[in-house]
This record gives sequence, C-alpha cells and structure tokens, in this order.
Amino acid sequence: MAIKAVRGVRDILPSETGKWQRVEAAGRKTFEAYGYREIRLPLFERTELFARGIGGETDIVKKEMYTFDDRGGDSLTLRPEATAGLLRAYIEHGFQVEPKPVRLYTAGPMFRYERPQAGRYRQFHQANVEALGEVNPAVDAEVICMLMDFFFALGLGERLALHVNSIGDVGDRAGYIVRLVDYLRPHAAALCGECQARLGRNPLRVLDCKVPDCQPVVEKAPSILDSLSPEAAKHFESVRSYLDTMGQAYTVTPRLVRGLDYYVRTTFEVKTADLGAQDAVAGGGRYDGLIERLGGPADPGIGFAIGLERVVLLLGDAEAASRPFVLLIPLGDPALQRLMPVARAVRRGGVTAELGYGARKLPRELERANRLGVAYAVIAGENELAAGEAVLREMKTGEQRRVPIAALAAELCALSGRGVSPKSVSPEGVSPKGVSPKGVSPKGVSQ
Ligand code: ATP
Ligand code: MG
Repeated sequence: MAIKAVRGVRDILPSETGKWQRVEAAGRKTFEAYGYREIRLPLFERTELFARGIGGETDIVKKEMYTFDDRGGDSLTLRPEATAGLLRAYIEHGFQVEPKPVRLYTAGPMFRYERPQAGRYRQFHQANVEALGEVNPAVDAEVICMLMDFFFALGLGERLALHVNSIGDVGDRAGYIVRLVDYLRPHAAALCGECQARLGRNPLRVLDCKVPDCQPVVEKAPSILDSLSPEAAKHFESVRSYLDTMGQAYTVTPRLVRGLDYYVRTTFEVKTADLGAQDAVAGGGRYDGLIERLGGPADPGIGFAIGLERVVLLLGDAEAASRPFVLLIPLGDPALQRLMPVARAVRRGGVTAELGYGARKLPRELERANRLGVAYAVIAGENELAAGEAVLREMKTGEQRRVPIAALAAELCALSGRGVSPKSVSPEGVSPKGVSPKGVSPKGVSQ
C-alpha cells in the first residue's frame, strides 16, 4: 500500500501555488511599505518557550502542541505560533538597541494538534507581524490598518469585518474575571462541558467558545469594557480615534478576548462570513510585559497572525493557473540543437518556455501545446532548418509565419510583452551556434 500524507497535513499543489505566491507577495509588499523587515525563524524551539510565551492555560499549550524529546533528551516543540520564537530571537540578538518600534515580519508553517476540517489543519501557515518597543496607541492603529491594507491589496477588503476590543491591563482583568464568574456560575448548566471546566480554570476563554449552546449565555455576559482602568480606557479610545482618522471601519466587540494568556489592552480579529465555522482569518493584540516574562527587557509589543490557508480559500478559483507562453517543438535532434539555445535565451528574458526534445511526432507535440495552453508554438523541422528558420504558430488563430531562428528569441520576448532587446536575450554563449549577431537580417526568409 502507498503511504499517504499525515492526517490534517496537506500538499499545496501546483494548481494552488499561484494563489499562495500572490498572497505572500501582497504580504511582503504591504509590510515592507510600512517599514517591516523579514526575520526567518526555526520551526522548533524548546518546549518551555511556548509554555512561558503562550501561557499554560491556553488551548494551544494544554492540548495542541507537537512535543517530543530529541535524542539528547531535550523537550522540543514544533512551533504552534510564531510570536514566542520571534520574541526569543528579539531578546537573543539584542534587537532592543535598535530604533523603536522594531518592526519585524515572518511567515511559514505552524503545527497544532487539532481536529482537521475545512480551514483547520495540523500543519498550516501564518504570516506574522510584530511591532516591538512602542506603547503609543498610534502603533496599534497603524498595525491594524496595515493588516487591512494587506487584505485590500488582495481585493478582499469588502468581504472582511474588523473587530476590535480592549481587555485592559492584567489588574483590570482580575476584577473583570470575578464579575464574569459571578455571572456565569448560575448559568453553568447551560454551558458546554468544556466551558464548565473553563469556569474554574480560565473563565475568560468561555467568551471565546464557538459551541452554539453557549452563545445565549455568552452574549449576555458583562462587558470587559466596563472594567477598564482609566489608562487602559484612554488607550483604547485613542486607538479608535486613530482608526477613525485613517478611515478604517471597525466594530467594537467586547467578547473578543483571543487565545493567548498574555494579551493586554488592544485585541483585534478579522472575520469573514464566507468560510463557515472557521471564520477568523487573522487576529492579534498587544502583549506588553511578555518580552520581560521571556527574560528580555521591559519592551512592550503588539502584533498579529494571518491564517494563510483561509486567505487562499477566500481567493477562490478565479485565478488562472500560470501557463507557459510558448512551446518550442524541434523535429529531430539537429532541430533540438538549434532550439535549445533559443529556449534558454527566451527563459533568460523572463518568458516561460517549454521545450520538446525532438523525438515526438508533430501532431502529438501540437496536442501537448493545446493542453499546456500556450499562446505560441515554434516548429522547426529539416526544411525550416535548411533555411535557418522556424515556423511560429499562434495557437488561438492557427496562423503561421516563418521567422529566422536567430531572431526568434527577441520575437517571442516582444510578443509576450516583455519587450526585451535582442541583445539581452542573446547573451554570450547563448546565441545559436554559428549564427552571427547580425543574423537578424531577413536574408533567407521565404516570403
Ligand atoms: P481559531 O479560533 O480558528 O482556532 P485561533 O484563535 O486558534 O483560531 P490564532 O492563534 O489567533 O488562531 O491564529 C491566527 C490565525 O491563524 C487564525 O485566525 C486562523 O486564521 C489561523 N489558524 C489558527 N489555527 C489554524 C489551523 N489549525 N488551521 C488553519 N488555520 C489556522
Ligand atoms: Mg485555535
């Protein structure tokens, strides 16, 4: 029996990678426009880092981590999220001496042992952005606007809703939790089993529960916004006024508490109505105090994570898969020898070219040209070669004309809209053997 991929882990196939590349490019472009620089982090870290950096009471640390002992006996964990590792690197490499805020982004696979379903996998991908060392609420607003600009760049702006909240400082939260538990206790019987357990351990997380039965209780819960200290309330008010200043629409959602133990003040999430239960495409928040907790300086921080699978799902199938522009069809080995350097020159010019290897008959190669969906085919057999030419066929119309082989690369580049000069596509060593640079002359073209 053939071995299959691990449950909850998927291949991203060539038919999808075009969309992935577009999403990644939009992220890069947007984040770099805001001054963020890329950092690349390891896929596994010491288990302790996540226990300290995410929080022992979170779902992630309690039940979703891939943890193992390596051969030296160290407990390691495949990263379930990127912030902890990024902050570890921030501390380890002394980033705090750089001008604040230090702006970093990263992207890559994350690993969580969850129940696989549409939009939820055991290996999935996130793009992460963090602004470190700045408490000003303007940073919160800027980071949120950048996240929305990323979606705007992908044409998804209209389909997404931004939710913002403040969960106050650690002290505010302690007071709120007392009020929340007072409210929830009498309704405990109406809550799901998991939430009944959360009541004792981590009551805030009840607000985050997605089980339908819990919703009526959760909806009437007291608002955390009524428990904010004057400082935290002012911070939130400023974040909102800066969002208004930048013309960014949002909904204040007091139930938005998010999954990390160490969020303070601003939290936010981007949701869609188009993906069923897996409706969060991105989320983030402020985590002042976390860097210090991890053994670093007392620098504040704020950041977000985008779930890339869900973004790609939203893009749908509208995107045309990328196709080669031309198929070069040599008939026989001498023709192959003449077309190989042409293919190389065209490819150096940035145009996608496929090359036949001379052994197949013309009808089969033309069939292949159709299946590849190329715009042009170039055919060279004995007759054409004798005249130093090839046949250029436009696939859609079936129109054909003869082009000198020496001029072919430039012609194809021009047709593809690359407009590359003949010189740049015929670099030394790539011009067809025995053809002088002046070979572009129409000499020998049959009219
Ligand atoms: P959810 O409530 O969907 O479990 P989360 O709060 O656990 O999300 P975060 O830790 O905030 O998620 O991660 C940020 C984003 O990463 C999510 O909004 C989501 O888009 C994506 N994400 C999280 N877990 C998965 C997963 N198992 N598979 C695919 N995407 C995921
Ligand atoms: Mg989760």
